[in-house]
Amino acid sequence: MTPDLSIVVPLYNEAKGLETFHARLLGAAEAEASARGLRIEIVYVDDGSRDGSARLASGLPPGTLDVQVVALSRNFGKEAALAAGLDHARADAVMFMDGDGQHPPEMIATFLRLWKDEGYDVPYAVKADRLDEPLSRRLFVKTFYWLLNFGAATDIPEDAADFRLLSPRATAALRRMPERNRFFKGLSSWVGFRQVAVPYRPSARSHGKTSFSLLRLLGLSMEGLTSFSPAPLRLAGLLGAAIAGFALIFGLSIVVERFVWGIPVPGYPSVVVGLMVIGGTQLLVMGVMGEYMARILSEIKGRPVYFVADHLLTHGAGAQHRH
Ligand code: UDP
Ligand code: MG
Repeated sequence: MTPDLSIVVPLYNEAKGLETFHARLLGAAEAEASARGLRIEIVYVDDGSRDGSARLASGLPPGTLDVQVVALSRNFGKEAALAAGLDHARADAVMFMDGDGQHPPEMIATFLRLWKDEGYDVPYAVKADRLDEPLSRRLFVKTFYWLLNFGAATDIPEDAADFRLLSPRATAALRRMPERNRFFKGLSSWVGFRQVAVPYRPSARSHGKTSFSLLRLLGLSMEGLTSFSPAPLRLAGLLGAAIAGFALIFGLSIVVERFVWGIPVPGYPSVVVGLMVIGGTQLLVMGVMGEYMARILSEIKGRPVYFVADHLLTHGAGAQHRH
């Protein structure tokens, strides 16, 4: 029987904490399933882990729920893992959460209440504060969201997590977005419907450390930004306009100085500064355009976002089907 809710959990080298996490998730999900008479399935997506997360996940006790384990052929990144989870989720409503213990499974109850009882389509978790993070990271995040939302019609809420539930119509909308450069948070907010923020305080990682270094975060942000928003192009245009405007005023002032006041204009410094400003800005803008070209290239290549190496479905009753 098809479930009413699929809970998608991407896993990348989460073997150490997986059993504890699964027990917690199972407990919270089973309680909600029986309280509300819902059928819930868990979809673990192993994103090419090297620590045997996939094997471990396949052996987890399903309890009364159905558990799918989708093992990707290599590490494709979290966005691709989320896409794989969405594709394999059999339910019309889908929830997404991290498998490192930072997203408390107990919040399933809150999400379900907001969806089922209050009619919200997208309840999403928002970090209550970022005080535990270094200043550099917070500044980085601020800049990213400022750029992302610059001139955009719909704001993507700052500090929102991938931890969220999507109602059937929001999930259907998400499934209709075909792009390969996926920025899940952006997409699930862009679909609209009734969205609601739920503040939460992420728990400490149950083990290991984050797989997103500042450098990787920088790359991902550039990807998220350019696949989602034309803001950098607009800013490049604005920058060009500002420099051209300044050059115009500067040029006029030289003309006035030379012909009205008769002051000879020193040539060398202004020429060098002018060249450097123009050269630098042109390279910068070309770099920004290059990022967009890279996104276009990867979209027109039309490659699949991920490949599945193994897929296992364990029914709550205990019977296993291998696909
Ligand atoms: N993850 C993934 N593929 C990756 C990196 C991470 O599926 O290439 C998963 C990871 O297992 C976890 C979630 O994405 O469930 C968030 O990762 P992490 O905790 O490293 O990120 P952070 O919490 O620091 O944002
Ligand atoms: Mg984490």
